[in-house]
Order: sequence, then structure tokens, then C-alpha cells
Amino acid sequence: MVLSYAAPEKFRKELAETAKAIVAPGKGILAADESTGTIALLPINVENVEENRRVYRELLFTAGAELRHYLGGAILFEETLFQKTKDGKPFADVLREQGIIVGIKVDKGTVNLSGTDAETTTTGLDGLAERAQKYYEAGARFAKWRSVLKIGKGQPSPLAVLENANVLARYASICQANGLVPIVEPEILMDGEHDLETAVEATQTVLAAVYKALSDHKIFLEGTLLKPNMVCPGADCKIKYTPADIARATVTVLRRTVPAAVPGITFLSGGQSEEEATVHLNEMNRVPEVRPWALTFSYGRALQATVLKVWGGKHENIPAAQKALLVRAKANSEAAQGKYTGDAAGSGASESLYVKDYKY
Ligand code: 13P
Repeated sequence: MVLSYAAPEKFRKELAETAKAIVAPGKGILAADESTGTIALLPINVENVEENRRVYRELLFTAGAELRHYLGGAILFEETLFQKTKDGKPFADVLREQGIIVGIKVDKGTVNLSGTDAETTTTGLDGLAERAQKYYEAGARFAKWRSVLKIGKGQPSPLAVLENANVLARYASICQANGLVPIVEPEILMDGEHDLETAVEATQTVLAAVYKALSDHKIFLEGTLLKPNMVCPGADCKIKYTPADIARATVTVLRRTVPAAVPGITFLSGGQSEEEATVHLNEMNRVPEVRPWALTFSYGRALQATVLKVWGGKHENIPAAQKALLVRAKANSEAAQGKYTGDAAGSGASESLYVKDYKY
């Protein structure tokens, strides 16, 4: 079967294998690619300097032997990809030796999209091919690009939907041409009072546009992953929904829009509490409908909130903070298989992590 793919022949097998391995049963992704400006060190009274960021990332990547059972991949910020442990081992090697595939955030953040009411597009396409080659050489095998959309009056606007879908497809095309599996992330923020039905409609519109653009750009879907928001009501919605409602809404939208060729869907947590993000994922993996893709996690805040608090920048707290990461990673690994029984719902795990207009 000869099809014109964005992915060159030499990379196709590797791209498909990488995407599949990241979402192997019980595995998900640790998103540790917070930018230098947004890594949450200041809220725990830790100075945001390179050495503290390095110490923190070392804490995460060396959390313990079990980590390999829960993580198929970890997403790094560029600075981290070229950092080393205190003993001089590159973080990329630390992860690879555990069988955890190295990913890299390649977008350069959002800018206002003219002609809209403060909606955004994401920058970072210039020079992306050269950067992708450099990251591949440094050991990265997948990439992430976050597009941000919001729900409001007339939003997401058709222009924002079209522009972000196209930029995601361009990014995916450049990544595949250079051997990196693109994680396609069209995040619809939870900001607002909207109900679940409104979130269903917006997510369906956005994902349908994204897959149209990926098709137009001849993306090799077998070598991609999707990182969407779960379909949740707005953070200020007055109506209460159950985890089963959210799971059903999310799976319904995904079944209507995401082709079966996509090996996995790796959700962002988007401001849900650690426990909510786990419980919702677990519910989704129990929805009786056919789900042709793996449904798993790619959490930033929902894997790290307790870890950061327990660590607090103190050397003596590192083992306890590492244990906290393993607790959440294990819970999410179980949730990715629909087997989570609620035993990680300890102190703090149910605190909301929602931040309006969150920047990653
Ligand atoms: P959260 O899980 O904190 O939403 O972040 C994941 C992510 O990678 C956002 O781009």
C-alpha cells in the first residue's frame, strides 16, 4: 500500500513503534516540561534558578525502580534534555536506561491571534526542523506542542479552531519528517461557567478540525499521539456531574472524532485535582463502548502537585517526594487499565489545581 505520508519511509516503523510503546498497557507520560518561567518552584519558596530546576528534575527521574512500570515516556523542557544528574549522567540516559522514552516540548508558547477576542495561536515553527534533528540526536523520540483554545461567547471561534488545527498539523509534519512522534495537544481550557454539553460540542468541533488538518497534511497517524483535555464542565459551572458523566462524554467525543489508526490518547490534567484526574481516567477505561486507542495519562500538575509540596526544596525530603510520585504514577497506571480502587486518595490529592488561563 503506497500512501503519501509526511513521515519518510526510513522513520515510519520507528515512529509507529515509539508511539505504541509510550502507551503500552499500564503506561503513560510524565509531563515535566514546564517552561523556565512557569515551573512551580516559587509557590513552594524555592528560588527558580537552573540548579534548583535540575535538582527537582533529578528527583523525578530517579524516583525509584518501579517508575519504569508506570511511565512509557517523559516530556522534558529543552534545558532539561541537556542537563545531567549530580553524578554527571545526562537525564536522557537516566530515562532511557529505565525504558522511559524521552520527549521534548518544542512549542514556544502562545501569542494573541489577531481578529479574535484574545484567543491564541502557538508559536515555534521557525527553525523547528533543525531543532527536531538536534533533539533526536540528543535521544528524544517524541515531541509535544500545546495549542490552547477556550470556551466562551462565540468561542472557540472558527478562526482559532482552523488556525490551531493547521499549526498542529504543520508541527506534526515537521516532527515526523525528523523522526519524532508528535503529540498533538489541542487543549480546551476549563475556564468558564459552561456545562458539560457545551464542552462536548467545543471538543468535538476542535478535534474534528484537528483530524481534518492532519489528514490534509498527510500525517502518518500511526506515528502520533493525541493529548486532549478531558471533556469537563467549566471550572465555575454550577451543575455537578459524576465521574461517570465525564467519562461517558469524553469517550463519546473521542469515538466520534479520533481515527482508530491513532495508537493512544494521553490526557492532560488541566487543573483537575490529582485524584479527580485519576478517577476520571479510570472511569473512561471502564466505559463499555469499543475504544480502539489506549486511554492513558500525560499529566503535569496531577502527577507533581504533591511531589512539589512534600519536597519543598529540602534535600532531606527527596525520598518522601519520590515516594509521592510513585504513589500517583501507580494510581494512574492502574487507572489506565480501569483497575484503580481509590487507594491513592490521601492528603492533598483532592485539592483543585485549577489556575485561570494556565500557561505551561
Ligand atoms: P497538566 O496535566 O498540568 O494540565 O499539564 C500537562 C501538559 O503537558 C500541558 O501542556
